[in-house]
Amino acid sequence: MKRYIMALDQGTTSCRCILFDEKGVIVSIAGKEFRQIYPAPGYVEHDPTDIWSTQIGVAQEAMLRARCTYRNIAAIGITNQRETTVIWDRCTGEPVCNAIVWQCRRTAPYADALIEGGMTEFFRERTGLTVDAYFSATKVQWILDNTDGARRRAENGELLFGTVETWLIWKLTGGRVHTTDFSNASRTMLFNIHSLKWDEDILARLDIPASLLPAVMPSSFYCGDSAPEFFGGPIPICGAAGDQQAALFGQTCFASGEAKNTYGTGCFLLMNTGEKPVRSDSGLLTTIAWSLDGRVNYAIEGSVFVAGAAVQWLRDGLRLIDTAAESEILAASVEDTGGVYMVPAFVGLGAPHWYPRAGGSITGITRGTGRAHIVRACLEAIAYQTADLVAVMGEECGAPFSELKADGGASANDFLMQFQADITGVRIRRSANAETTALGAAYLAGLSAGYWADTAEILDTRTSTDEFEPHMTESRRAELLAGWREAVRSVTERD
Ligand code: ADP
Repeated sequence: MKRYIMALDQGTTSCRCILFDEKGVIVSIAGKEFRQIYPAPGYVEHDPTDIWSTQIGVAQEAMLRARCTYRNIAAIGITNQRETTVIWDRCTGEPVCNAIVWQCRRTAPYADALIEGGMTEFFRERTGLTVDAYFSATKVQWILDNTDGARRRAENGELLFGTVETWLIWKLTGGRVHTTDFSNASRTMLFNIHSLKWDEDILARLDIPASLLPAVMPSSFYCGDSAPEFFGGPIPICGAAGDQQAALFGQTCFASGEAKNTYGTGCFLLMNTGEKPVRSDSGLLTTIAWSLDGRVNYAIEGSVFVAGAAVQWLRDGLRLIDTAAESEILAASVEDTGGVYMVPAFVGLGAPHWYPRAGGSITGITRGTGRAHIVRACLEAIAYQTADLVAVMGEECGAPFSELKADGGASANDFLMQFQADITGVRIRRSANAETTALGAAYLAGLSAGYWADTAEILDTRTSTDEFEPHMTESRRAELLAGWREAVRSVTERD
């Protein structure tokens, strides 16, 4: 009988389910978008019931498509949008309100109050994170403060908190298991990444009752069986990790010093730093990558806010291109940008620059500038922003990059990949498998279920990758980077 691993990929806009075989090949896939709720400017919510019904629906569909029964599924692994916060009643299973999504800015005043209260260093030291509304902690506070009866019910031990994988595991097990994994816990701003426990001082400071919190488990770990009614029989749930950490695992960055960049709407660059949490002084985040075989692996993470989104802007805002893919042909049609630089700081500039109020710019325009130059400058900007992160990350980790693994929608662009290699001087290895996030969740679950014996066996299943070697001369690279720094300076000086 053929057996597969089921990966549930619960993203910000869609739920997907992928069945993988022992070679990591996709056997079946199903996905569906679900409702985004924007109740006020800057507010973003999801209905947890929508998330659950969409997720279980696509899981059943993926099994039907592969003509599987529960006996064909060796284990379930989950990967999820991180930080998004759900609170529900432990008896009825009813969420007390909609989930507050990671993008939601409603709790910015809570975060500001912590920063003004001089708590930045306290949180960085314990959680590895920069105090921000992005993480779950202030979202939990908001729900307790603003939902009728929630604080009283929380204090009576009636409510449970979870990030989305916790919610899904709880629903899948028919309300029997309340657990999170180390990678997701490390994104709550409530978890001490050194003691590997919920931080009692933080809970006291934020007035969050400990009874809300899930048990923290390894990322590759049997935590319970799915209730039989969902798949016709029980399936063991054997792994979970936040989406970016799962992508790091799916890219087989198992060893310290290995890194991946996901080129999507924004970019997420993560480097595995082994069993050592690396502290950053330039705004990178220290986070838990996963825990496996009794060991915890840390990662350092940096993000570029606007990457593929700038290509969307060329398409929908400026109408310079009809499709994102066309950007590659246009960029390659000119020798260079003719001195044009785009700084797509649509929502400020993140690490390592940190100018939240910077606006975007296009500089160096001459009469000879055409649309191909602007399009090329846009793709180059994605690579420059990544190069800035690569530089600080290499420095702070004391280990220069030897190569960088790439995935995500915009990694399909060969021009971007080659320019990335040229401008960083680092080999880029693009994954042949576009589903690295789901694959990471499958690997984590499959390892604890014994589907794969160990990570060495997983490495043996790897398929070929596209490689992009750096060819640019040192002097040309230095010249282009100097121009980029000048362009960044022009937007930050206006901040
Ligand atoms: P997300 O998961 O963040 O929604 P995806 O990984 O699906 O993102 O990637 C989509 C993004 O990649 C879009 O912003 C799109 O503009 C960009 N993109 C897709 N294909 C290309 C391409 N060939 N060249 C450049 N950008 C691309």
